[in-house]
Amino acid sequence: MKIYNTLGRKLEEFKPQGETVKLYTCGPTVYSVAHIGNMTSYIYWDLLVRALKANGYKVKRVLNLTDVGHLVSDGDEGEDKLEKGARREGKSVWEVAEFYIDLFKRDYAALGLTEPEIWARATDYIEDEKRAVDLMTEHGFTYETQDGVYFDTSKFDRYADFAKLDLSGLKAGARVGFSNEKRNASDFAVWKFIQPGEKHAMRWDYLGRPGYPGWHLECSTIIDKELGAPIDIHTGGVDHIPVHHTNEIAQYYAMTGRDLARYWLHCGFITIDDEKISKSLGNTYSLDDLAERGFTAMDYKMWVLSGHYQGTRNFTFDSLGGAAVRRLNWRNQIAECYQKRVTGDADVCDRVLAAVSDNLNSAEAFAIIDSSVLSFEDWQKVDKLFGLHLMADSPNIDDGIQALIDERQAAREAKDYAKSDEIRDRLAERGITVKDTADGPVWQYL
Ligand code: AMP
Ligand code: ZN
Repeated sequence: MKIYNTLGRKLEEFKPQGETVKLYTCGPTVYSVAHIGNMTSYIYWDLLVRALKANGYKVKRVLNLTDVGHLVSDGDEGEDKLEKGARREGKSVWEVAEFYIDLFKRDYAALGLTEPEIWARATDYIEDEKRAVDLMTEHGFTYETQDGVYFDTSKFDRYADFAKLDLSGLKAGARVGFSNEKRNASDFAVWKFIQPGEKHAMRWDYLGRPGYPGWHLECSTIIDKELGAPIDIHTGGVDHIPVHHTNEIAQYYAMTGRDLARYWLHCGFITIDDEKISKSLGNTYSLDDLAERGFTAMDYKMWVLSGHYQGTRNFTFDSLGGAAVRRLNWRNQIAECYQKRVTGDADVCDRVLAAVSDNLNSAEAFAIIDSSVLSFEDWQKVDKLFGLHLMADSPNIDDGIQALIDERQAAREAKDYAKSDEIRDRLAERGITVKDTADGPVWQYL
């Protein structure tokens, strides 16, 4: 299997360290509804997990849930997103986290995404995070200011390498207010102190004062505790490269002297109608918004997988409509090939798997499927590889439907058209239509 490794910026043959692939995915900040842009990355990493399994690997995967410490800006200013959510909704931060974790997991399940072995909630690792800061301090990588404990990026000489950062070009101009004690512009908080009078409901005592962890710290800490580094694969969005992942790597080195991960995969961003996704443009669609327009989560997954994970893709409702039609088409091909006992092209599943194993080229795999004949067994394998529920969420091929189809055919032969129309309506209620062909009736999905 080949994957594009951000570390080294090249396509590489994937070789895990052991039998089980240790995989970590940076998860959501649970303070508002995930929009469809947020969900794209989880869809691609689901494909990664499925591709690894199809290639014979076992996978142990951790996905974190950020319920504290992610500030509104990627720097160290601004409000904690959870506190912001709590203020907006008149709820406690704990209630906000609970609510959006449930919502995220609901969307995750609707997309048929493979459950991680461990859902890691940041607030369950606070003591580990404090110990991580202790270690970094013992090793001489931190300094304290009146507003927190900061990571001194000048102490890690590879700091700029991962993201190919131009540190000399990083202006210290943004040093305003409480962060003016930073030694280098790229330094970041590993722990924040809560200032007297500051409202911050989630707080833990550390170094004799109330405070809370910096956002980047949870990933380095959770990986250390749950998987042990270096892990095999670390995934996230391209936006994570210059700050979040760069800082995760630096922290882990400061804690342990080791590398965090051997392969790093990043997926591109989507735009909507050629615009950035943003609240002010009113285009932060969630899966519920798509459902209101008649599209299922699986239609969206189909749209996502018809493009490459590294691309910058533009979402439109027209293109989503195209993906929905393609999916319906596939389901009807399955129905037809089941009924007619179609024999598939000899090597189609091998070619589909080869495309997916070549840096997750789902777009190419889809093109192979469109231009080939698949047997029912081939479709079962394809459905497992992509998790598109092509068969599961339908009345599919069950005996009851077959009996109705036979009854309709008998009524037609007896010229009892009132009865055959009535059965047609009953089939339609179950999402099925019948096409009369020269070889007899063939049912399809509506
Ligand atoms: P968070 O705000 O922490 O829940 O993270 C959201 C994550 O979703 C970001 O870090 C990105 O990796 C991803 N993301 C946000 N917007 C987009 C987008 N337009 N397209 C693809 N991924 C996105
Ligand atoms: Zn992370």
